[in-house]
Amino acid sequence: MKLLDRLRKKQQDVDLKEKKGIDAYIESLSASSMETFVENIATTFKENDKLDYYQVISNHLGLALFTINLKNKEITYVSRKVEEILEISKEKLTIDYWKSLWYKGETIDFSAIYARLTNEGKNSHTYRIVTPNGSVKWINETTVAVEDEIGNIGKVVGVIEDCTNALQLEQKIHFITTHDELTNLPNFLNGRQHIQEVIDRYKTKTERFALFCVNLDGFSRINNTLGFKIADEAFKQLSIKLEKYLNKGVFLFRSQGDEWYAVVECSMKNEEYMSHAKEIIDIIQAPLQIQDYSIRITASIGISIYPEDGENKVELIKNANTALKRAKKHGAANYQLYAANMNIESFKTFQLETDLQSAIKNDELYIEYQPKVDVKSQKATSAEALIRWKHPLWGEVSPMEFITIAEESNFHREISEFVIDSVCKQVGQWEERGIQFNTVSFNLSAKDFLKSSLIRTLKTTINRYQINPKHLEIELTEGTLLQETSVVQDQIEQIKALGITLSLDDFGTGYSSIHYLKKLPSDIIKIDRSFIQHIHKNVEDKIIVKSIIELTKGLNKTVVAEGVENEEQFSVLQSLGCDLIQGYYFSKAVSARRMTELFKMNQIKPAICKSKAPMNRRKYYRVSFPFFPLHTEMTIVSFNGKAVTLGATDVMVLDIGLGGLRFVSHLKLKPHTDILYNFKTTLLGKDIILNGTIVRYEEKEQDIFEYGVEFHMEESDRDELASVLNKITLQMKQNPLFNDGDFIDENPSSYLSKIQRR
Ligand code: C2E
Ligand code: CA
Ligand code: CA
Repeated sequence: MKLLDRLRKKQQDVDLKEKKGIDAYIESLSASSMETFVENIATTFKENDKLDYYQVISNHLGLALFTINLKNKEITYVSRKVEEILEISKEKLTIDYWKSLWYKGETIDFSAIYARLTNEGKNSHTYRIVTPNGSVKWINETTVAVEDEIGNIGKVVGVIEDCTNALQLEQKIHFITTHDELTNLPNFLNGRQHIQEVIDRYKTKTERFALFCVNLDGFSRINNTLGFKIADEAFKQLSIKLEKYLNKGVFLFRSQGDEWYAVVECSMKNEEYMSHAKEIIDIIQAPLQIQDYSIRITASIGISIYPEDGENKVELIKNANTALKRAKKHGAANYQLYAANMNIESFKTFQLETDLQSAIKNDELYIEYQPKVDVKSQKATSAEALIRWKHPLWGEVSPMEFITIAEESNFHREISEFVIDSVCKQVGQWEERGIQFNTVSFNLSAKDFLKSSLIRTLKTTINRYQINPKHLEIELTEGTLLQETSVVQDQIEQIKALGITLSLDDFGTGYSSIHYLKKLPSDIIKIDRSFIQHIHKNVEDKIIVKSIIELTKGLNKTVVAEGVENEEQFSVLQSLGCDLIQGYYFSKAVSARRMTELFKMNQIKPAICKSKAPMNRRKYYRVSFPFFPLHTEMTIVSFNGKAVTLGATDVMVLDIGLGGLRFVSHLKLKPHTDILYNFKTTLLGKDIILNGTIVRYEEKEQDIFEYGVEFHMEESDRDELASVLNKITLQMKQNPLFNDGDFIDENPSSYLSKIQRR
């Protein structure tokens, strides 16, 4: 097109209109492609085969035109512009000479060109030449076949164009848009595209490849202390080092700031990827010399693997990042694989992290209310709002688990807003219906208090539902107050000014409870559950609680005892003059509807403990290990229909039958058919591997859960298991102290608490 534009301009300068055939030629100038253009010239000159037409047109227009007689392979016409481009006089130019100019290694397929000329009548191709003066040029050549009277290709008319500059510019632009300016490495966009290309290639393979996300630790410190010029130089030098170290199979690109990604196209075992990561970390942390500074920077690496950690580029990048975050949590200079190093607990945490985003949208979060009962009247006078998350696969997730996750992400604010909104709305409904109650409390954490928007949110929500702020109570813990910033202090005062009640939660668990008792303008003190738990058995606890109650009353505050579970605890607290009781003794947290009924009652009766469903509902005979449970490694092999690779968690198996097994664990899991567990243990010197889903569970003690599992297995595997179980039954009959297996000589709670601490 550029050439055509040029031609159009020159055409105005040259008056060629009288020449015969020029109309056809002029028409060709508006042709949309070079090929059509040359074709038109060819047609024109086929009819008027006179050399002077070529000359006039080409030389005046600066057109690099040539003709070749194919019969005797002679160049019959060459315009001045051809001489200029090829840097050779027309006298010397032969076909062979032209060929000799071709850039070394340039392959031109003549038979293909000839075939195109024969079939389509034209051909266009681009190649490089080295001119006699030594310059390299990109040539675009377009030829059109001119047939003789009997229909054979007699000659070709061609035009060449020197497109070196345009191509160089194009290449330069391409490089700039696909590369990072500082390091000259491919940029993120380019990298993403590359990952997609690799995925496309690996789709049909059974091999895996890895994506490493390499991020510098505390690089902002260098930026802040030594300035961005030195920081940039450091990053540049590290990029060069990395590029040198990584071999050909690795595509390194810069993502942003202090981060690279490396696509490691090599099917390795996890351990090999990890040692590769370790080497990268070592390379990076060798000291750098920049100006007068000797700088040592460390890096952390997160690794995701195709296909198990993600089947598309977005998932792979996201999961490499997640693994990186986990690596950073372990401190600087660390590396983590996305899934393989995760056990069930961390897997759950990461699943929850992802799913929390959509929990509100999907209506999975809701509030339950636990009554606070007045000790004297035994009436439910207040309630605490507790958040609940019903996860589609993990079941009910404890706020203890997800509040910390939310606090680490930006999602925390939305959750608090949800709680405030739900509570105010409910309070509004209770007020409207004339239900009698003192306050409904809700929990806020330190992070809420650091945001200056808290008061605004409270005010607008109170206004929205037109409620009396006296009905609201905020529970905060010492942790919040430790922040002692002026923002927190200011918010607390404003909350008081709004008329909202303040209570100090988990009292006694912090280091300076007494200090805050005096300092915080709280109206209510909630004695932590840990003091109540043994109050009926432990004199020390009773003395502590007694003095807390006295102290609080002396300061004119109300005292609530949390976690009251039985009548003995209740009686002790009653005798000590505690004001309010909260705990399972009266009620667990219940729905708003049930809470309405509880508020309406003149007196609330202690809850009757329902007996739990028996765990041993099963159809097969089972071999039990009641005294020494069997040490077993448990993992998840498939989650929601997708295969996952996780590390194992230790559990204790209490019995095994042909249909399933029973185990205890410190993990809180929910029965679900979409989570397939894998159990690996040793019996009679053999590895036993079993798959199944959890179908029953029961909380045995605090943080110890017992589960019933139903096996998913082939008949042949069941036969094999039957033979092992039969042998064991026989041996157990002969020897009651049978111990040919991975048995644990310890009670479940001490063994499991050790695992938990690991
Ligand atoms: P917390 O504020 O100390 O809440 C009391 C916890 O003790 C609740 O657990 C409650 O169900 C439980 N509990 C009540 N009575 C008894 C009892 O007699 N025995 C035993 N063993 N436990 C009892 P939950 O609901 O799991 O909440 C745990 C923690 O999660 C809360 O402790 C609170 O710190 C946090 N939390 C709950 N809801 C929210 C919320 O909406 N926002 C924030 N930021 N945190 C929340
Ligand atoms: Ca609370
Ligand atoms: Ca509490």
